[in-house]
Amino acid sequence: MSGVVIRGGEIITPLDRYHADVYCDEGVIKAIGPDLDVPKGAEVVDAGGQLVFPGGIDAHTHMELPFMGTVSADDFFTGTAAGVAGGTTSIIDFIIPSRGQSLLEARDFWMSNAEKACADYGFHMAVTWFNEQVEKEMRQVHHEDGISSFKTFMAYIGAIGVDDDELIGVIDTAGSLGALVTTHCEHGLAVQSLQRKLVAAGKTAPKYHPQSRPSWVEGEATNRAITLARCSGQPIYIVHLTCKESMDAVIRARQEGVMVFVETCPQYLLLDDSVYDKPDFEGAAYVMSPPIRPLGHQEVLWNALAAGLIHHVATDHCPFRQADQKVMGKDDFTKIPNGAAGIENRMALMYTYGVAKGRISIHQFVDVCCTQPAKIFGLYPRKGAIRVGADADIVVYDPARSSVISAKTHHHHVDRNIFEGFAIEGGVSHTIVGGKVAFKDGDLRVERGAGRYLRRT
Ligand SMILES: [Zn+2]
Repeated sequence: MSGVVIRGGEIITPLDRYHADVYCDEGVIKAIGPDLDVPKGAEVVDAGGQLVFPGGIDAHTHMELPFMGTVSADDFFTGTAAGVAGGTTSIIDFIIPSRGQSLLEARDFWMSNAEKACADYGFHMAVTWFNEQVEKEMRQVHHEDGISSFKTFMAYIGAIGVDDDELIGVIDTAGSLGALVTTHCEHGLAVQSLQRKLVAAGKTAPKYHPQSRPSWVEGEATNRAITLARCSGQPIYIVHLTCKESMDAVIRARQEGVMVFVETCPQYLLLDDSVYDKPDFEGAAYVMSPPIRPLGHQEVLWNALAAGLIHHVATDHCPFRQADQKVMGKDDFTKIPNGAAGIENRMALMYTYGVAKGRISIHQFVDVCCTQPAKIFGLYPRKGAIRVGADADIVVYDPARSSVISAKTHHHHVDRNIFEGFAIEGGVSHTIVGGKVAFKDGDLRVERGAGRYLRRT
């Protein structure tokens, strides 16, 4: 067999749409054009009547993350496999050292866990404490491992969170390397104080989780992160932005010339906080930080997306099973492992509720799901583009299909899906990963360990 040819589809990029065949061999795109002549024996993917996108990139996942006394339920193989089933062909996950742990030791742990991935993967390095040694190791992982983005948490104070002084140190060091700092914005001490008061008052059910982390606590931290980056003359990337207060801070900063990149996730666009009122501890499935917001914030995010103020829609994929993991917080919402699955559903949700509903254009869809994350995180044009020489990571999407999301049929290794019952328009018919057809009409043909580590610039 010699390569794969995608015949007769309509290629969609952030700027154009046109009909052409795409020929892939040796893991890269070799030719694009009408009625391509290809070697005999090339596998043919019939994309007639279908759309052809660059492979999706999810720049925010947590596979097999040790967190809150357990480990997230998708490992690097099952998590990337679920991604491939949904048209995501690369992830950027997080190396998260504990406070006081060497960055290099954590790097070795995560790198060895990730070898089982079936799609390409990179890492952001979380910096959870800061001193001269950490500064040296930030330089080291940047040079040796091609890690060009660093993550900080303003929440989780006392664990993986950093204070403002440490955050300034991380921003300055990253800036001197030409690397980007990404920040989880919630006022850590404010959250702790609200959590203590709620629990002391006997308010321990999942529905009190959002009350312990209101939107204004996120807005304050977003504004502060931007301010600290501005002091250092550096850009900043806000992960999983969820609310109007944060968006207001971003808009103000952008008007004043500060470079702020923004990421959100489908759950913040599509769900509202009524999910926490579900009976029988079912609200626990939606416990994540920041939490799902009250009605109103979603429209702000959709408008920001349409206006080009949001650069990437990622997932924060971090699943925990209801049966034996979420239940750890049965008597205290602060002990419910934070996170949910989403990597398989991201592209289809954004196509259905963004493009098909007319909220964003199909070009914006490709931009925020596939191209912008590659550009921002140093993978472009190897990833995020359909052009000769790029990696052969391609999605064929059939707009004529339809389905309904359910935990009964998803590939995530968890027993709940936070988008249970959501109707989907269109569907991925084929995912090509590294030049191989890894998903075809529901049939997942991924190979454990086929994913490669992505050094970034
Ligand atoms: Zn996260």
